[in-house]
Amino acid sequence: MSELLQNSQNGHLPASARVPAIARPFVSERAMKTLDLVEKFVEEECIPADAVFASQIGETTEQRFTSHPPIMEELKAKAKKLGLWNMFLPKNHFKEGAGFSNLEYGLMAEYLGKSRTASEATNCAAPDTGNMEVLAKYGNEAQKRKWLDPLLNGEIRSAFLMTEPQVASSDATNIEMKIERNGSDYVLNGSKWWSSGSGDPRCKIYLVLGKTDPKNQDKYKQQSVILVPHDAPGITIHRMLSVFGYDDAPHGHGHISFNNVRVPASNMVLGEGRGFEIIQGRLGPGRIHHAMRSVGAAEKALEWFLARINDPKKTPFGEQLHKHGIMIERVAHSRIEIDAARLAVLNAAIKIDESNAKGALKEIAEVKVLVPAMNLTVIDRAIQAYGGAGVCQDTPLAYMYALGRTMRIVDGPDEVHLLQLGKNENKRGPAHKARIEAQQKKTEELLAKHGMKKADTLQLNRVNGKVSKL
Ligand SMILES: Cc1cc2nc3c(=O)[nH]c(=O)nc-3n(C[C@H](O)[C@H](O)[C@H](O)COP(=O)(O)OP(=O)(O)OC[C@H]3O[C@@H](n4cnc5c(N)ncnc54)[C@H](O)[C@@H]3O)c2cc1C
Repeated sequence: MSELLQNSQNGHLPASARVPAIARPFVSERAMKTLDLVEKFVEEECIPADAVFASQIGETTEQRFTSHPPIMEELKAKAKKLGLWNMFLPKNHFKEGAGFSNLEYGLMAEYLGKSRTASEATNCAAPDTGNMEVLAKYGNEAQKRKWLDPLLNGEIRSAFLMTEPQVASSDATNIEMKIERNGSDYVLNGSKWWSSGSGDPRCKIYLVLGKTDPKNQDKYKQQSVILVPHDAPGITIHRMLSVFGYDDAPHGHGHISFNNVRVPASNMVLGEGRGFEIIQGRLGPGRIHHAMRSVGAAEKALEWFLARINDPKKTPFGEQLHKHGIMIERVAHSRIEIDAARLAVLNAAIKIDESNAKGALKEIAEVKVLVPAMNLTVIDRAIQAYGGAGVCQDTPLAYMYALGRTMRIVDGPDEVHLLQLGKNENKRGPAHKARIEAQQKKTEELLAKHGMKKADTLQLNRVNGKVSKL
């Protein structure tokens, strides 16, 4: 037994044996086998390579955003050889993927979430995954051959440009980027930020959301998505934004301006006015991928937590940390919360498989809010157990916390999902009011039939210690 796969007192319980009972009937034998391969690949190849990747990026800003760490190509070659490639494209909608369902990929994404390199190594990294889904679902043949094929092969990378610095972009109707028809071209003017992936020198294509018809009465028909090559004249990347001080190089989050950027009209995806439809279609499965990776991150944090509280060299007040009840209680809470969150994500994935992302809006919103909060709580407990070591570069926890925190904002902040969920739940209010009133009425009829009064309306008449009925 490889020490890199140890996960229980008795050695190793493979990932397939740990699939929750509720999900088992929906997982094929092939997916179970692949899941075990993914686990082995992540634990034995990717996690040990994470620090090599970080070192190969370099030190100066210029190095960091022009580098392509060679270890990544080594990992990609290994993943391809194992058949661990493009597992994210669900089989019921796409022929281009590895032939798994959202649920099956969800189980695999948990393991990918434990390593910084694993998602890209298997060509399952955001934002490429969502962008490939857009191209596969809505792109025409020419767009697919030019951009989807090299993305599917892992030869290039991509970015999705929606958010803008000057408007509240969690409401995408606010987006101001102008996309104007001019002869056989479109001309783009505006500013974008948080363009994740745009720092990577291999990022060749931007999917840009802007307005082609800002005056349209229907505010959901004003937007379009258009393909813009990264080197089109008029594009300037001004800076890379940091996340709690981390630059996320070479991937990066760009602040980009477009000054009369001209692209052929044939770069329009699906047609003018279809932008909202595209972003809605893109975000559903993507949120599940993020959620399952976050479950994996929480699981990894718990592993680090357990390692620390069982370190015989650390004995505050004469005891190892696991002898302090408060730590064991935190372990138990973490176990409960991770397992509950995983079930919620798998449930959402099953719902998407049974219908589509639109049919699973409630379940997706639930996990979009639930999982990042759970992940942060579990990482925070692990950080606390490490003391000073927990907040510095000596464990992966500090970076995991920074990354995990962004998940409450990325793809729409918590509040937007909570508001939608709350409003929809509240629609059931009048029906429940009517049902409760009808039940009360029936109770009164039953009481009358039996010549009785409701228990809490009975009066007690006690005089001189003697009780008599009213
Ligand atoms: C690490 C990272 C990566 C990202 N990657 C990308 C990317 O690749 N492409 C891209 O286009 N964008 C990306 N984003 C941007 C992200 O999607 C936006 O930040 C997010 O949608 C919020 O938009 P905003 O920043 O404009 O905040 P705003 O819309 O200004 O919202 C600010 C805050 O207002 C509150 N709020 C919003 N709506 C409501 C409401 N209805 N009720 C109550 N409160 C509300 C929330 O607290 C919210 O956080 C990324 C962001 C981060 C942090």
